[in-house]
Amino acid sequence: MAELLVRGGRIFDPASGVDLDGGGILIQDGLIAKLLTKDELSSLGEFKGEVLDASGKLVMPGFIDLHVHLRTPGQSHKETLESGLRAAVAGGFTAVCCMPNTEPPLDRPDLIRGLIEQAEELGLARLYPAACISQAREGTRPSPWRSLLKAGARLFTDDGSDTADAYLLRTALAEITALGGTVAIHAEEPTLSRGGWVHQGPVADELGLLGIPASSEAVAIARAAILALETESRVHILHLSTRLGLKVIRALRSLGAEVTTEVTPHHLLLTDQAVRKHLSQAKVNPPLRERADREAMVEGLAQGEIEVIASDHAPHAGWEKEAPIALAPFGFSGLETSLGLTYQLVREGRLSLARWVEAQTAEPAKLLGLYDPEQGALGKLAPRAAADLTIFDPQGEWEVEPARFYSKGKNTPFVGMRLTGRSWRVVVRGKVIIP
Ligand SMILES: [Zn+2]
Repeated sequence: MAELLVRGGRIFDPASGVDLDGGGILIQDGLIAKLLTKDELSSLGEFKGEVLDASGKLVMPGFIDLHVHLRTPGQSHKETLESGLRAAVAGGFTAVCCMPNTEPPLDRPDLIRGLIEQAEELGLARLYPAACISQAREGTRPSPWRSLLKAGARLFTDDGSDTADAYLLRTALAEITALGGTVAIHAEEPTLSRGGWVHQGPVADELGLLGIPASSEAVAIARAAILALETESRVHILHLSTRLGLKVIRALRSLGAEVTTEVTPHHLLLTDQAVRKHLSQAKVNPPLRERADREAMVEGLAQGEIEVIASDHAPHAGWEKEAPIALAPFGFSGLETSLGLTYQLVREGRLSLARWVEAQTAEPAKLLGLYDPEQGALGKLAPRAAADLTIFDPQGEWEVEPARFYSKGKNTPFVGMRLTGRSWRVVVRGKVIIP
């Protein structure tokens, strides 16, 4: 029987009401066998298995990144499954959900199955591939939802863009929810964003850059939430970025719509002012918004109106991001900076440690339908749950050095930033995983 004892540190899972200072976690065969208090730990006697001393660390359920781009298949110059999953482990994540805007897009069951099998062989972080809502992400014809679910897809989205046909989205919401899957949308109305590059506001005006208005996001959220309301289904809004969008979510919730949402580290920490300094390196979709938007994102996350933190890790080759802002692709690397960046909000007292943890454990696990199984559940510390742990050093000081990323994407507007708090080790299926 494979055994691991994680001892010392603060064992912390707020959603399950677990907070044991100096306690331990006994792991057997990939599952949590027992949570131990300090006293139980000292009376345990001689332990024959492997011991991991986590003194001074935070020991939490394995963190789940609900929104990453791993560029597989088809774009190995940006990322491979191996480099992306190493980056996940290095960043403190034990599971990731990868978006389907690949080449070809993930609209076939064999592609979903293939990715899951490849990830299992790699033995790094767990992989949950999201599948397309529409064939080829073209927004017109449905992909085979039932067989995609059978193949292991749990989240459905045309991320990269919104689902063009509203009636198709309406049908997808009803049918995928009924089958137990989750529909997620990239909220963007293309006739409002009109090929823009940055947030529409004073910075865009001053620099003469094509802007994307906040309404592009808010209108798309309203559309999806109204369809979810009418079909009695639920919808997840990816990468929320505007205070207007958050107000629309509030309004539709008050009408009874079941809407969840997520926010990225960059929308919590940066504004469009970063575009002045970093230009193409700060080009991301949705764009970095204004100060009031950023404040609303932090507040919404702190209050639980925004359930999830997700990185939207979007790696590109260096030469692609060096292009002028009109031509450079959207997005940057995020897996290896996410925890360190968002932990600064905890340090500043703007986000409780409990919310920070829930937003990356229990909440994403619920959206993936992985929180409730009797055995092998993700996102919680409890007997019979999966032995996936994120062990975090709240005192660890480091500097964002993209050259040292495991990801092939070496671009980030956070380059050179000094941070306190970093991932120390992850445990996946009861094994300490080294990136
Ligand atoms: Zn997106």
